[in-house]
Amino acid sequence: MYKTTGFKRAFVLILAAATVVAAGSVWYWRQVTEKLSQDARATIIGAGRELAENFDRLLGTEFQVLASVAVSLDQPGALDNRKKLVNYLDRQNRRNSFTLTGYQDSQGKAIFSDGHVLQDFISVQDVEDIYTRGHYISGRRKGPFSGRDILVFAVPMPSKEEGQRNGIVFATQTIEFYAQALAANALHGEGLSFILDRAGDIIIAYPRAVYDNLFKAGEDSHFDHGRSVLRMQQDMSRGESGWTGYTLRGEHRFASYTPLEYNEWYALSVLPTKSVADRAQTLVLLSLILCLSIIVVLGILLVFILRMQSQSSRALYRMGFVDPLTEADNLNAFRFKFPRAANAFKEKKQPYALVMVNINRFKALNDIYGFEQGDQVLKQVASALQGSLKEGELFCRSSADIFLLLLACPDRSELGRRVEELAGQAGRYCQSDGKCMPLSITCGAYLVDEEVPFYIMMDRANLAWASAKEHAGQICAFYDEQYRRQIVTEKQIESTMEQSLRDGEFKIYLQPKCDFKTARTHSAEALVRWMHPKRGMIPPDSFIPVFEKNGFILKLDMFMLEETLRLLKTWKERGTPVVPVGVNFSRLHLQDPRFIEVLAQTADKYGVDHHLLEVELTESVVFGNVDLMKQVVDGLHEKGFSVAMDDFGAGYSSLNVLKNLDFDCVKLDKEFLACGEENPRMRQIISGLVHMLKSLGSGVVAEGVETPEQAEFLSRIGCDLAQGYLFSRPLPPQDFAQRLIDERDKK
Ligand code: C2E
Ligand code: CA
Ligand code: CA
Repeated sequence: MYKTTGFKRAFVLILAAATVVAAGSVWYWRQVTEKLSQDARATIIGAGRELAENFDRLLGTEFQVLASVAVSLDQPGALDNRKKLVNYLDRQNRRNSFTLTGYQDSQGKAIFSDGHVLQDFISVQDVEDIYTRGHYISGRRKGPFSGRDILVFAVPMPSKEEGQRNGIVFATQTIEFYAQALAANALHGEGLSFILDRAGDIIIAYPRAVYDNLFKAGEDSHFDHGRSVLRMQQDMSRGESGWTGYTLRGEHRFASYTPLEYNEWYALSVLPTKSVADRAQTLVLLSLILCLSIIVVLGILLVFILRMQSQSSRALYRMGFVDPLTEADNLNAFRFKFPRAANAFKEKKQPYALVMVNINRFKALNDIYGFEQGDQVLKQVASALQGSLKEGELFCRSSADIFLLLLACPDRSELGRRVEELAGQAGRYCQSDGKCMPLSITCGAYLVDEEVPFYIMMDRANLAWASAKEHAGQICAFYDEQYRRQIVTEKQIESTMEQSLRDGEFKIYLQPKCDFKTARTHSAEALVRWMHPKRGMIPPDSFIPVFEKNGFILKLDMFMLEETLRLLKTWKERGTPVVPVGVNFSRLHLQDPRFIEVLAQTADKYGVDHHLLEVELTESVVFGNVDLMKQVVDGLHEKGFSVAMDDFGAGYSSLNVLKNLDFDCVKLDKEFLACGEENPRMRQIISGLVHMLKSLGSGVVAEGVETPEQAEFLSRIGCDLAQGYLFSRPLPPQDFAQRLIDERDKK
């Protein structure tokens, strides 16, 4: 997600920069072209003027030369002899730059410096002009002998009197010669120079012109800057100077035109703007290359920075949101994605559930197979769970061996099935050598039914998981309110138990174990009662399991032991009849090697005979570890305590246990008895069992005897004692003592 936006941003930036550069370049190109055009215009206007001045000067010089020839010819007798004249002209011609120099007399006979003679070389009309204006330049014409294009210059011979016509001196020069003279004004070879007349006929051109008339050549042209060739034509017809831009055969040009002093001719300087554009383009190109290089460098820098940034943000993302072992999301990522995923489900009106998955005894697995295998297990479980996700669902490894899932949940039973299926898929670990072993997996699901913060949902899934774990064999449990309340109560119990014990809220009650026939109290069982100042009397079933879980039962049992011993001691001291009392001990005591020792020492502290104390151990305890149990039972016997097996018939009864252990007494569970009520077969089993127990030499106490029928049956099959409401409820110590006294007195 980070990567793409970063690069997108870079791409947009570069695109923007490129656009700016492109627009800038166009603008810059226009500016440069405009500036260069202005320069070019200024240059061409200057060049045009210079061309006109230079050419005027050149023509002036030509006329001066011709005038000096005329003056030198104006000698008496100079024109008399033709041969002499030709000789003279030839001499003069060698001194000047003209091709030919000549003299045309008043009859129109023209004598050339090379000896040629021509009639009316200069036409009668032109001769008239020469006498009127004092000088003459022909238009472009063919040389009479060479056939080359030439210009003809002429001046009248000096005259002493007004109107006197002494002939004219003339000279010819090749157009080629003047074209070379124009070359000096051709702007370093880039420009073109023309001498043309007002009609646009080109007289001299450098370089050689490809057309004869500028205006006619311009028929296929079009014009720029509002200044057209037409305008030039008009200007020229008025004898004005000016400049123009025009396009000729696709080539754009600037031209400046300046009138000459002679013949109403014009000097025209032309500069193709192509050279201007070329220069502009070169400049712009260079600038563009510079800009582009800068952009490329900046772009590379930008991409580099963004890459670094995206790399570090990716690393940060990994650190914060990815579980390094399984590469799956971690809890942070899950929490982050949860609201959006949950909303999507809500919008679709699709119920959803938060499911917590845990591998049971994962720590043991780690201990036995090592961490490496443990890691492999986690990876396999993670990939199995992740692979099972459907659209819109989420998964993460929350911590160690706990995984979380957000799953669509059409209904409870379907989700239950799916989760169990998931647990089945994930609950199998295969090693690289192909060997597979089952994993035990427990799940807790919270079907999200109210808007509560995420951590509360987690708590609920966790509670459900804990409840599944409590029930062996259950894979998945759902969170329900009742269970939550139970947990809350447990928490309350836990938070007050220590103080309650110190405050004496736990009381001892005694329930007689009676003889069937006489109903006399043979012995008793000490049962705890919690007299809670606010909640009243709390029955042991609601707190003993909690204490079993948190270990507080160890303290409570010892408290009950001391209470029992104190009573026995008091009775003895007061002369009250004394009967043996059974005290319940949790299986947790068996783990304590000093248990028996402590028991003996405590009894001795109160000076109570050991045989007056009966230790009640539940059957499930026995089932757990027979060897340990045997050691304890034997140890207790050694110290003179008697031992009773409690709740026989509840849970997993095992006759095997009885065979190995030497109990003084077995207490038949009250539920067991209740079953016998309705079921004749059960009665037979009970009867057989009692028979067998008796034959093993054990005493048998029936718990929960409530009706005379039950008593009659139990007595008949050989039970020794009855503990039940039919005979007596558990009594406070004074009441129990009174009962003993009454029984003694009745005797
Ligand atoms: P338990 O050891 O099997 O105790 C006998 C239970 O049966 C007592 O329940 C007693 O009140 C009840 N009971 C006796 N006669 C009848 C009858 O005719 N009908 C019915 N329905 N019930 C009868 P209580 O006192 O509620 O104790 C429940 C359990 O709590 C005990 O079962 C015992 O496992 C545990 N417990 C009680 N006090 C202690 C103690 O100090 N330490 C330990 N570790 N456990 C205790
Ligand atoms: Ca008991
Ligand atoms: Ca019992």
